[in-house]
Amino acid sequence: MSHRKETAWLLAAILAAASACTTTESHHNADIDVVGMDKSVAPGDDFNAYANGAWMKSTPIPADKSGYGIDAILTDETRKRTLSLIQDAAKAGAAATEDARKTGDFYAAFMDEAAIERKGMAPFKPQLDAFAAIADRHTLARAIGGQLRADVDALNSTNFETGNLFGIWITQGLEDPSHAYPYLLQGGLGMPDREYYLSQSPQMAELRKRYLAHIERMFSLAGFTDPAARAQRVFALETAMAGVHGTRVQSEAVHSAVPWKRADLPLKAPGLEWPALLEAAGLSVPSVIIVWHPKAVTGLSALAAKQPLDAWKDWLALHAVESAAAFLPKAFDEEHFSFFGKTLSGIPQMRPRWQRGIDLTNAALGDAVGRMYAEHYFPAATKAKAEAMASDLVKAFARRIDSLTWMSPETKLKAKAKLVTLKVGVGYPDRWRDYAGLEIVKGDALGNAYRAELYAYRRQLDKIHQPVDRGEWWMTPQTVNAVNLPLQNALNFPAAILQPPYFDGQADAAHNYGSMGATIGHEISHSFDDQGSQFDADGRLANWWTKADFDHFRAAGQALAAQFDTYRPFPDLAVNGQQTLSENIADLAGLMAAYDAYVLSLNGKPDAVKDGFTGDQRFFISFGQSWRSKVRDAALRLEIVAGGHAPEQYRAQTVRNLDAWYAAFSVQPSHKLFLAPGSRVHVW
Ligand SMILES: [Zn+2]
Repeated sequence: MSHRKETAWLLAAILAAASACTTTESHHNADIDVVGMDKSVAPGDDFNAYANGAWMKSTPIPADKSGYGIDAILTDETRKRTLSLIQDAAKAGAAATEDARKTGDFYAAFMDEAAIERKGMAPFKPQLDAFAAIADRHTLARAIGGQLRADVDALNSTNFETGNLFGIWITQGLEDPSHAYPYLLQGGLGMPDREYYLSQSPQMAELRKRYLAHIERMFSLAGFTDPAARAQRVFALETAMAGVHGTRVQSEAVHSAVPWKRADLPLKAPGLEWPALLEAAGLSVPSVIIVWHPKAVTGLSALAAKQPLDAWKDWLALHAVESAAAFLPKAFDEEHFSFFGKTLSGIPQMRPRWQRGIDLTNAALGDAVGRMYAEHYFPAATKAKAEAMASDLVKAFARRIDSLTWMSPETKLKAKAKLVTLKVGVGYPDRWRDYAGLEIVKGDALGNAYRAELYAYRRQLDKIHQPVDRGEWWMTPQTVNAVNLPLQNALNFPAAILQPPYFDGQADAAHNYGSMGATIGHEISHSFDDQGSQFDADGRLANWWTKADFDHFRAAGQALAAQFDTYRPFPDLAVNGQQTLSENIADLAGLMAAYDAYVLSLNGKPDAVKDGFTGDQRFFISFGQSWRSKVRDAALRLEIVAGGHAPEQYRAQTVRNLDAWYAAFSVQPSHKLFLAPGSRVHVW
C-alpha cells in the first residue's frame, strides 16, 4: 500500500494520468514554511488551512495539471534531472552503457513527432487488422489473452485499473510465501471504475454522455465505418462489464481471493475459451491461478459468450487505440487527452511532450533510468541518514506495541516478529534489473512501447518459475512516493522522495520527523493496518491475532472510518471511510510513531523555539505541510470514487487524534476539529 496517490508506472495509466508542469518552484529550505501558513485560521478549526492557507491562496494550479502541491513540485524537479541524464546518455554514444543508450533512443523516438505523423496509422494497422479478422469465440479468447499484461497490483500500490479484460499480478502466494503465482483481477472498463457507469448522480450521467461521444470520435479518427454504432456497442458492453464488477471496497477484501486450478477455470467461469486465452497470455503452465475477483471473473467470462462478437471486436480495437494514443499522430493524442485529461480530471491543457516522454521512458526502462538517477542524485550519506531514521521509526513502533494496554502478550510477540523481519529498502534496490534482449529501435515509438511492455510482462511471468525474491522493488528510485509490500513484509523508499522538503539533512528534528518520519511511520504501519495486519512475519495470509485483540483493533478502525465519512467535499459525494481505512490507519499510526521518535531524539531536553513556534508545534506544522496540495474538482471526484487514499486536505487533519496536538495548539471544545478524549482514535 503506497503512501501517496497511486503513481501507476504502466504505460496505459500514465497516458491517462494527470500532473506535471515546467514551473520552477523554489523549495522552502530547511524547517517549516512560515510564509505559506495562514495564521488567521485557528489551528483547531482547520489545521490544513492553518499550515498551508497562504500557499493555497497564492498558488494557482498550473493549466496542465489536475492538482498541485509538494508531490508535483518534486516530481517536476526529478523529471528535469532525469531528462538531462537521458540526453547525456544519448550523447555519450559508445561511452554509455547499452541500457543507458536505450533510454536515450526510446525517448528520442517518442519525441520525433514528424516521424510519428508521417507514419500515421501504419504501425498500428496490423493490430487492428488482427482484431477485424476475429471470426469466432476461439480467436476472440486468443486475442483477449494476447493483450493481457502484468498491469495491476492488488496489495502494494493497490492499482486495480486495467483496460484489458483481466489484470495480471505476479507475486508470492497468499498462503504460500515460497512460490510466485499469477493473480487474476477484473478489468475491461474504459472509465476508471464501475461507479462511472452505474451511479445515478447527474454528474456521472453527464460524464457517460461525454465518454460515448469520445469513443465515437476515436473510431472516426481510426478510420472505422459507422463510428456511432460501434461506440454504442462498446459502451453497452462496458456497462455490462461494470454490472458484474466488484466495488472498490470489495477489491480490497483480500479474503475474497481464491486459488483456482487452471483446469477448473472453464467450470467455475464458463463462457470464455480459457485454454486459448491462457496460452496467448503465456499462462498455460501454472497449475494454480489466484482469482482476486472470482465473481467478476465469472461474470466477465459469461459476457464473452453472451455479448455479440462485433461488440467484442470493437471493444478490443478501441482499447488498443486508447492505449497507443500517445504514440500515434497528434489527433489521437489530443482526443485521448480531451476526455481522460480534460473531462475526467479537469486539466485544461496537455503537458509538454518532453515531460510525457520522460514518464513513458521511466515506464519502459525504469531501472535503467533509476540507476543513473541514484548514481547522480542519491549520495551514500543521504542513504545512510535515511536508513538511520527508518530504523529509529521501527524502534519507536516496537515501543508503541510494548506499551499497548489492550493487546495480549501473545499478539504483541507476533506483531514484533513482523517488525524484526521487516525488510526496509532505501533509495534503490540491491540488484538492478537490466534490459538485455529488449530491442529499442530508433524512430519506432509505438514498436518500442509494445516491446517494452511485453518484455516487462515476460519478466514477471518468469518469476513463476524462480525462487521468491523478497528484495524485489515495486517502485522506481525516481518515483516521489513510498510503498509497503505486505506479502514481502518489506518497504520501498525511493531516492526521489528522500529529498527536501520531505527529508532534509540540514533541517531540525521537528521538521524531519513531522514530514519524512511520519511517511516512514506510515509505511511501517501499513504492516499493521486493517489489511497488513492479516499477514504474518513471512507475508503469509494468516490469522495471528487473539479474537479479543482483533475485535478491539477492528472497533478502533471503525471509529476512524466514521471520522472520515464525515468529510464531504461535494454535496453528492463524501469521503468513503471504509475504502480509505488502510491509508487512514497508516497515517494515524505513522504520525504517532513519528511523534514518539521525535520526542526520543530530544533525549529529554526541551526543543528550541524557532520562528515563534515550539518544537511540538513545528512537528505538527511540518506534518500538515507534507500534505500541501490543491486539486481540481473533477480530479478530486475521481480520487474519492476510485482511490484508496483520502484527499490530502483531510489527511492533514489526522492530527486531531493526538493528545499532543491539543496541548501544542491549546485546542478547545469550541474548535471545529475538537474531539473529546474518548473519541480520539488510537489504533496502535
Ligand atoms: Zn499508504
